[in-house]
Amino acid sequence: MEEQMQVCPKCGIKQPLNEVWIQKKSWKGKYSSQNLKKLCPSCDEDYRIFVEYGGQFENLKTLDDFRVVFEEFLVSPKVELSAVERSYQVLKEFAGLRVQIAIEAQKFSGRFSSRSKRMDEIYPISQSVFAPQITEEFGEKAGGVGWQKFLMSQVVEVKAVKSGLEREIAKQVGFYPIWNMYAKHIPGIGEWLTGYLIASIGDPKRFPDTGHLWGNAGLRVTKENLAQSRTRGTKLNYDPLLKTVICFILPQSLQWQKSRFPNSPYSQLFESVRLKEQEKAINAHPAICNIRGCKETEIVNLGFKNDSKGGRTFQGFCCKKTLGTKKEHKFFNPAHIQARVMREVGKKFFADFWHTMLYFESENPDIYGREGEHAANERILWVFEQALKA
Ligand SMILES: [Zn+2]
Ligand SMILES: [Zn+2]
Repeated sequence: MEEQMQVCPKCGIKQPLNEVWIQKKSWKGKYSSQNLKKLCPSCDEDYRIFVEYGGQFENLKTLDDFRVVFEEFLVSPKVELSAVERSYQVLKEFAGLRVQIAIEAQKFSGRFSSRSKRMDEIYPISQSVFAPQITEEFGEKAGGVGWQKFLMSQVVEVKAVKSGLEREIAKQVGFYPIWNMYAKHIPGIGEWLTGYLIASIGDPKRFPDTGHLWGNAGLRVTKENLAQSRTRGTKLNYDPLLKTVICFILPQSLQWQKSRFPNSPYSQLFESVRLKEQEKAINAHPAICNIRGCKETEIVNLGFKNDSKGGRTFQGFCCKKTLGTKKEHKFFNPAHIQARVMREVGKKFFADFWHTMLYFESENPDIYGREGEHAANERILWVFEQALKA
């Protein structure tokens, strides 16, 4: 990877550079070694704007004309709003909007599901006034469309995909090495999630360490090992939307592709985090049952149970008083662990993303590890490998 990194002659940022034509094809350029230079994707966009809107475009005819302009471009002062700064602003607006749409869609999906099932039974959509519309929208597949699918197709998320919103976000993230060399090669992580993270992190150097990065997302763990939470009456000191993305949307996206891409380090991360969380839970030795003010101090560890898929799941604890009764006070149940796993995976991914952003700013070469101090980040290195193969 290190060999692939070069310093962009315009912005000075170390990153993988593109071979660009000084006189582009659309400017009637031809392939030749004299026509080739290297620039980062963002500066290439700046160069295009510099040439086309610089006021002398009409007079540029030969490759030599363009070579002069290219030299002028390299020494030109920083533009007021460079391509990457502008795309950062666009991402802030659009990717944020796209995330909110995704959250809305999830809410609707929950609300529609039981309603749709009832409707499918008493009034199939094929008998409703929507029947022709279904045939038009879904064609041959119309027969399999129930109320749930139809109602969801009316939700903005589907429209965001079909309208330009996603395409615009995709265009903007294309200016960033963090997309081209990293996020693009991680199954499950799409353009809009990437765009949202880029916009949330902003300048990665503003966080001195992962603790501050997580704190900004409301994910710091307190000294008492409790999650950071909102205290009534105090001002929120983190971004709640970012927290939702890290704890739910991101891990969900990674989880959906888990079975299809078992080799992805982020698929494997789920398993290692799950084992660790189970370990933690089983060794927790809770001293008191707090369910409904029970206060029983004799707690039974329920141990592991083999599930149908051959996995082992920790069953949690129950106080002795209610064990075996109809209303057992079970806690640390698998659902609880699942939420912690999601959160931990989201946090780890977020930290990797941030480290990779720093790496592209020529900071923090720790990705490769340092002898006697810390190991290399194998997940990031795996993704780089995929990127170079692509
Ligand atoms: Zn550049
Ligand atoms: Zn109890």
